[in-house]
Parts: sequence; structure tokens; C-alpha cells
Amino acid sequence: MKDSFKHQGKRRLLVEKLKDKGISSQKVLHAINCIPRHLFMDSSFEDFAYKDKAFPIAEGQTISQPFTVAFQTQLLEVVKGDKILEIGTGSGYQTAVLCELEAQVFSIERQLKLYKITKRFLEGLGYRPKYLSFGDGYKGLPEYAPFDKIIVTAGAPFIPKPLMAQLKVGGKLVIPVGEDPQIMTLLERVDVNTFEKHTYGEFRFVPLLENKN
Ligand code: SAH
Repeated sequence: MKDSFKHQGKRRLLVEKLKDKGISSQKVLHAINCIPRHLFMDSSFEDFAYKDKAFPIAEGQTISQPFTVAFQTQLLEVVKGDKILEIGTGSGYQTAVLCELEAQVFSIERQLKLYKITKRFLEGLGYRPKYLSFGDGYKGLPEYAPFDKIIVTAGAPFIPKPLMAQLKVGGKLVIPVGEDPQIMTLLERVDVNTFEKHTYGEFRFVPLLENKN
């Protein structure tokens, strides 16, 4: 698993592009600059790994576009030590970004094959999420709740109630909501019964599907 000067150079250009597109969090840009995205996708796509594009991974899923990863992560305002739940582990790229930000990361994937491949792969790269789970993200992880932050990386037809319930007061949930496209939505839990909602325009994700597979 090589990370050459050529890869690093392309990565710096990607970071510049993300800045131009409006990503301002130095921490998020730094994390993206550190992570060898080309290793998270099939080697036949290696030349495209630092384009700001989504790409196919196993099981008909995708690795999200870097801008989308950066945008969602920036909305989360990650602080070192935050307990974060991710729905949709996929390639593990977003998981790695959260690990770089020194969060305690819990992540759920519903496709068994992806779950297994990505678990081994992240370990090999030296990333240490707290817990990777094979299961249905609609249900969250009640046994590990509450979370400071929750990030959903698949398009959700609605906001699952269990995820709202598993958010700490003061916590943030970032979720793309809708069929196609989705509207990027931030819910802040201001007290036990009150959530403030903010929206951030259209994005396109693979769908959040029920049950595991
Ligand atoms: N965060 C990923 C994005 C992968 S695409 C990355 O950076 O690569 C979205 C992922 O969500 C897919 O892997 C898909 O299998 C998964 N997914 C869809 N519905 C899910 C659900 N209900 N629970 C958990 N994972 C789900």
C-alpha cells in the first residue's frame, strides 16, 4: 500500500480545490491532506482518486465525493474526543477522516462484505475506530448511545427517530434527507425535546436501505 510523492502532490491540489469550493475548516482540510484516498478504492480508479468525484466501490456502493465528506465533517464541528456515530461505513474513508480528527468513532454498515473488507483495511492502515458494526443504521447503536455527533452517509427518505433519540443534548446530527436529490440537513438538539433544523442545499447519495444484507 504505497503513498507516493505523486499521490501526495495530487492530494494537496485536491485540498486547494476544496478550499476554493468553500471548505474553511483547517482541521478538516488537514485530515483530507493526510489520508491516502487512492487506497480506499479499486486500483483501476487510482488515477482518479484525487478528483473531486464519487467513485464505485464493492457491492454497488460508492465512496463519497471529497467535497461532500469535507462539507458534512465541517458541519459536525468535530472536537477531539467526540463520540461520533457514522451510518454507512462503506469504504471507510469518512471513518478515517473522523479518526484523523481524534474522535471516538462508531460506524455501522449494512452490507456484510463491505463491513468485513473495510474493517480489515482500516486496521491495516492503522486507523482505530472504537467500534465497527454490521447492522442496520436506521436503528443506530442504542447500546453505545448517547453520541455527541451522528453523521449519515447515505440518502435517508426521512430522519430515523432512533438516531434523534441517541443524540446528546447539545449534539449535532448531519443527514442528507430525501429521495433524489437529498437536502443536506443539520439537526441540533438544543434540549431533550427540541431540535433546531438547518438545511444546506442539494446533494446526491446512494440510498439508506433498511435491514442488513
Ligand atoms: N461513508 C462512506 C460512504 C459510502 S456510501 C464512504 O466514505 O465511503 C453509503 C454506505 O451506506 C454504503 O456502503 C451502504 O451499504 C451503506 N448503507 C446504506 N443503508 C444503510 C443502513 N441502513 N445501515 C448502515 N449502512 C447503510
